[in-house]
Amino acid sequence: MGLGLRQWFPGSAGFLQSWVQPWGDLFLRLLFVMVIPVLLTALPLGIASAGSLFHLGRTALICLGMTLLLSSASVVVALGLVNLWNPGKTAVPHTDWGQGLALPEDAGFLLRAVSKIPDDPFGLLAGVVGCPSSAHMMLIILGVAVGWGLILMLLPKAWGEPLHALWEKIFAACMRVIDGLIRWAPVAVFSLTCLSSFRTGPGLLAYLGTFVLAVLVSLSIQAFGVYPVALRTLGNFDIRKFWIGVREPMSTAFATASSNATLPVSIRAAEGRLGLRPHVSRFVLTAGASTNQNGTALYEGVTVLFLAQSAGVDLSLTQQAIVAGWCVIGSLGTAGVPGGTLPILAAILASLGVDPMKTGVGIGLILGVDRFLDMCRTCVNVLGDLVIAVVANHWTGRKK
Ligand code: ASP
Repeated sequence: MGLGLRQWFPGSAGFLQSWVQPWGDLFLRLLFVMVIPVLLTALPLGIASAGSLFHLGRTALICLGMTLLLSSASVVVALGLVNLWNPGKTAVPHTDWGQGLALPEDAGFLLRAVSKIPDDPFGLLAGVVGCPSSAHMMLIILGVAVGWGLILMLLPKAWGEPLHALWEKIFAACMRVIDGLIRWAPVAVFSLTCLSSFRTGPGLLAYLGTFVLAVLVSLSIQAFGVYPVALRTLGNFDIRKFWIGVREPMSTAFATASSNATLPVSIRAAEGRLGLRPHVSRFVLTAGASTNQNGTALYEGVTVLFLAQSAGVDLSLTQQAIVAGWCVIGSLGTAGVPGGTLPILAAILASLGVDPMKTGVGIGLILGVDRFLDMCRTCVNVLGDLVIAVVANHWTGRKK
């Protein structure tokens, strides 16, 4: 529609901005409002569950070590590829890297109403508590989340368990809200891409195509390069047998875009065709479905660097190292549900001082292709869990 209007009604930008775009903005703003509750619940729960791993001995330690290793490898793949290829520099629509757009003077009531919902919850909170910037506020929130996770992990059982259960409930409520929002994503995608495609013309398609290609190439390197090496060297496992064994979980992950929903199928494949011992695979796969999201870490890395490149911003090595750290931590705190990474991605962009609502830079631009890429990165997330299960199975005893 955006391309059609651009061709036949070039004066309709005001209409699109006032009456079509706000529906997409509403979606994004509600998503950003959820960023803080999601960070404050998902991250402590992730840390607390990682902590309880220590009580479970060797399997748990392998699980934790492999999660960090594979997530770091995926971020290195992402950053390495985008730095070598520079895909964001080759396809540039109208992009700009900085703080949000001012409200136009002739904005309709819908746009005005939507713009009342905060688009930078960190900035808003920073203003309330007197913190210098949203990036500082985010670090504080992150520190609080990590601290709370450690407390949940270290508290004696009598105190820790009820608090843990309460946090699980709050987290589940956040996820229900996000789930409801995601159902509405097609409308948001339509409204956001209308204005973007109107402004950028057919160039947007080439831009999104390059982005999709960059993500798919990096995911393939992780799946067909890093994982087989880990399987051979750390798991001493037959790679052909692995690919045959993971077919069912792969198609389920692709169809559902949810690691959590794929869990029963992964367990079945691990205990069936892969021949792993049930107590190892059940434990590793359950923990992995919510904490080991290698494909997601990779996606976050590619997206942030791609957006920076297309806005002409060269992130320094230190900034890239910070992005890498965020991606690994962010992937630990990403829920294994469709679109689980979107609030985390918004938080990473905010930590770099970018307003994620910014036209041409924010999440809105890539939302149109996110569902398809979500299906692909979920496959890599699930594959990563199965690789860890194989390695843990190898190091903790004989195969069945
Ligand atoms: N959908 C992904 C998963 O369930 C999470 C994400 O990257 O959004 O593993």
